[in-house]
Amino acid sequence: MNILNAETETDTPICSAKGCRAPAVWVLAWNNPKLHTPERRKTWLACEEHREHLSKFLGMRGFLKDVVSLEEWTAAENQ
Ligand SMILES: [Zn+2]
Repeated sequence: MNILNAETETDTPICSAKGCRAPAVWVLAWNNPKLHTPERRKTWLACEEHREHLSKFLGMRGFLKDVVSLEEWTAAENQ
């Protein structure tokens, strides 16, 4: 999957789309049933512009489980 940024280690969450440096607004939660147990969630971050592109990519493969705003996702994680 070479549509993603290689480097993701930053303080500000940045969109996962390759070459994009925009701050992330959305979290795409996904799961590859061939690799992951059903409860497992992998996440990609997306800016407003790439949300559709990235969710289509995952959706076509049947991997996409959920799309939530980063704000909501972080709030849920910190509970
Ligand atoms: Zn982006």
